[in-house]
Amino acid sequence: MLLLLLPAVLAGAGLRPAAPVAALAIVPGDASDDVDDPDGLIVAHPAKPALAQQPVLGELTPQLSPVPSGPLTYVPILYYHYIRVNPNPGDRVGFELSTPPAVFRAQMQYLADQGFHVISLHQAVVAVKSHGGLPSRPVVLTFDDGYADFFTVAVPILHSHGFTATDFVVTGRMGGSGFMTPGQVLAADGQGFTIGAHTVDHVALAAQTPARAAWEMKQSKLTLEALLGHPVIDFAYPYGSFNQYDMAQAKSLGFETAVSTLSGTAHYVGQLMELSRVRIGGGLPLTYFASVVGGPRPTPAELRA
Ligand SMILES: [Zn+2]
Repeated sequence: MLLLLLPAVLAGAGLRPAAPVAALAIVPGDASDDVDDPDGLIVAHPAKPALAQQPVLGELTPQLSPVPSGPLTYVPILYYHYIRVNPNPGDRVGFELSTPPAVFRAQMQYLADQGFHVISLHQAVVAVKSHGGLPSRPVVLTFDDGYADFFTVAVPILHSHGFTATDFVVTGRMGGSGFMTPGQVLAADGQGFTIGAHTVDHVALAAQTPARAAWEMKQSKLTLEALLGHPVIDFAYPYGSFNQYDMAQAKSLGFETAVSTLSGTAHYVGQLMELSRVRIGGGLPLTYFASVVGGPRPTPAELRA
């Protein structure tokens, strides 16, 4: 995992010491925001560490969440990667990044049955800015990397419930094996899903030169805007790696929000360039999913209490 190597890389290679460590926002427990490289296209993809070194979902607690200031808006922003059965049982990272279609279907059914309102990321941002205006039981669905199974598997399930979602696309991977084609990205956008940018090459931004980091963010935005014919205002940091410079770039490039892999469900306006999310993947039981989004709908008696 690139992310696991980052501290050593940053310390040893004399790379941009742009931010204090806390601003790097590298979260141990979320190290697997990782293009799983199904086709070997990712050049700078180091050998995966031994299984014992790999983070296990839920074992590590993110420690670098920003300190909240100002009114908080509660809305879980979930993030998925693959919607598939992990093809290689020995691939622990692949397992953690994969939500089997049947599990995803059950999760969406849970949201529908329990009266949740799936809102767009933009609606959540507006609510964070205005400190209100959300429907009851709000939840945001996001997907990282632009995998083909978002379009072929997730979208039909989402459609069946009338749910919306955002997919953060790695523009340099579009059309590659396992990734959405430009036509699929365009079709998803046309069907009301939101397409966000996720860099050109899925690099850890905090490890890049300022020029490269800025180019990765800007070029991915421009490529998607040329494809879609309208502004792209959402960004996700690959590997959850970013620093103060990257946050400033995201803002100056016109992104309305940039999401991270910091874990949390309460947001404040000063956090819009590092919005926290909750990772969904692997063998999570439905009870865990339910606890993340807020549990079953209160009974009338509970509402009166
Ligand atoms: Zn990613």
